[in-house]
This record gives sequence, C-alpha cells and structure tokens, in this order.
Amino acid sequence: ERLVGSVADGEDTAVEAALRPKDLGEFVGQPKVREQLDLVLRAARQRGATADHVLLSGAPGLGKTTLSMIIAAEMGAPIRITSGPAIQHAGDLAAILSSLQEGEVLFLDEIHRMSRPAEEMLYMAMEDFRVDVIVGKGPGATAIPLELPPFTLVGATTRAGLLPPPLRDRFGFTAHMEFYEAEELERVLHRSARLLDVSTDEAGAREIAGRSRGTPRIANRLLRRVRDYAQVKSDGVITSEIARQALAVYEVDERGLDRLDRAVLESLLKLFNGGPVGLSTLAVAVGEERETVEEVAEPFLVREGLLARTPRGRVATPAAWAHLNLTPPASSRA
Ligand code: ATP
Repeated sequence: ERLVGSVADGEDTAVEAALRPKDLGEFVGQPKVREQLDLVLRAARQRGATADHVLLSGAPGLGKTTLSMIIAAEMGAPIRITSGPAIQHAGDLAAILSSLQEGEVLFLDEIHRMSRPAEEMLYMAMEDFRVDVIVGKGPGATAIPLELPPFTLVGATTRAGLLPPPLRDRFGFTAHMEFYEAEELERVLHRSARLLDVSTDEAGAREIAGRSRGTPRIANRLLRRVRDYAQVKSDGVITSEIARQALAVYEVDERGLDRLDRAVLESLLKLFNGGPVGLSTLAVAVGEERETVEEVAEPFLVREGLLARTPRGRVATPAAWAHLNLTPPASSRA
C-alpha cells in the first residue's frame, strides 16, 4: 500500500466514518456539484417525491461515498451500500431491490463492474420501479413481475464513459467530481484535525495539502502520519517544519510524489536524457513491472504535467527537470 495511493486501505476504512461530512454545508469544495445537487434534493423534498437517480463519477477518494450518504441524510432516507463486483447475479440485485423501503437510497459503488444480466435488470428497476424475476430454467422459465417502492439509485464510477449509454441515460443527474484545490484540502485538513483532536497551524495544513494529490482521502492519511511524527518527535503540534520533516521520512515530496514516482522520473531523466523511451525499457530501468509504471506511477505524473505519453515513448517535460533540480541536455532546451 502506498501512502499516496487513492484507494482506501484498512486504516482509512476504520477512521473515515468519523471524518465524513454529514450534510452538504459541511462538504468542502466541489462548488458546482454541491449547488446542483442542493437544487435537485430541495426540489424533490418540496414535491414530497423521491429524488432522481444520481450518477457520481470521479477518481477514488474524492468523496463519492460521502456524497451518497449526504444525499440520504438530506432526504431523511435510509441508505443501503453495495458495489458492482458484489452483484454477481441478477438474483443478487433482485434481493436487494425488493427489500428496499420507500425513498431509500441505494448506493452502488463501481457500478460499471456489475454483471450484464444485473445491469439489464437495473434498467427496468430505475425506470419503472419494477423487476422481472425469472423462475425456473429453459423453456419452462417464467418471468414474475415484482413491483418496487420508489427509491433513489446513487451510482459511482471512476469514469462515466465506462457505462453503457442506456444505463447512463437513466440517471436524472450526473455529477463529475474534480480533484480538489490545495486551498480546499487545507479546509478538509483543518476540519479533520479538529475532529481527531490534533493541533495544526495554517502553514502546517498548507504543507500537507500541497502533497495530497488533490484527494481528501490522501490528505487525511498524511495528516495521521504527520500527527504520529509530531507526537513522537515534538510537542504534538503540526507546523510546516514538522510536516516537512515527517513527510521526508515517508518519502512524499513537496508535490506529492513518492519514491516510485521519483524513481520513474529519475530514470527517465538520468538514464534516457528525458526520453522518448519505451514503457518496457523504462520499467526495467526502474526495476518494476510494466503495469506498475503505467497504472500506478504514470497517471499522476501525466496529470501533474511532468511526463507525457507520446507515440514514440515516454517523454519528460521541462517541469520534470525543474522538479528534480536537474538541467536538461542542451539539445532539448531549445
Ligand atoms: P472510493 O471510490 O474509493 O470509495 P470515494 O470517492 O467514495 O472513494 P469517500 O470514501 O467518500 O471517497 O471519501 C474518502 C474520505 O475523504 C472520507 O473519509 C471523507 O472524510 C473525506 N472526504 C471526501 N470528500 C470530502 C469533502 N468534500 N469534504 C471533507 N472530507 C471529504
């Protein structure tokens, strides 16, 4: 597990419940999503209706689960949480749907990973609040229609483009979650510090926010590691100096790159003069699997504008040379 990975680890899961904002007012950042969702939910409440189905897309750790719980709370409705991979058969989905209460929110994480038959059952459930349960097999099989209470489906996916259009079209409202600005992460950190009873000054929170890759989950995780350091090595207060020292121990640099990210960049710059170099060659130089370089390290390096994927191979940008304090060769400086 990487300290700067965006998928939840065991410790995250254990503490995240305590750090989740409970209503839209407490939810930091994502101003457009908040404003639009607020309207959708208010209007539904005024009509005394169940809210429209909502699709949330965005990278892990940006607050999709949190937002689904907020939707339920704002509607005064219970919530059921499940995920695409947990629904292997259409029958699994039918069991969940038929046990929902009126107005309940069903949160379906990784909705793009549901099985095909379950997906088709979901179309009808979303549109008509009805499913056909197939009883028996072969020519004797019969479909028994089952009425469902109106419910709100909140689907979450890393990319809305992964969803088949018929599924995507059945959501009344789609929200795309963006990475957070450093200033927004500072607010997340101050809030979490308060809840965890940790003291941090402005500069300390700023230092952590800048290394959190635009992701609240990572910000909260780094906060816990810096808290440990502050407690053991100092008086427990997180200042910028303490945050810098702590994150140096954990090898997370001022831009949020960790050991692996830096190894990829360093190889690219020092061994291949900034590229272009093929992915496989780069992976061998770093001593990692091709997939690790491509799927774990590169997305963030590309997002940060430090590395570019070109048809001729991986290329470092001028920002990469600057970040590692290296001088580009004369030929590439023109
Ligand atoms: P995954 O797809 O991996 O489940 P997610 O997008 O559902 O991730 P959450 O579990 O909702 O992410 O959020 C991770 C943690 O980040 C939560 O514990 C929550 O405290 C914090 N968090 C997320 N978004 C916000 C926010 N806007 N304001 C404050 N805290 C937030």
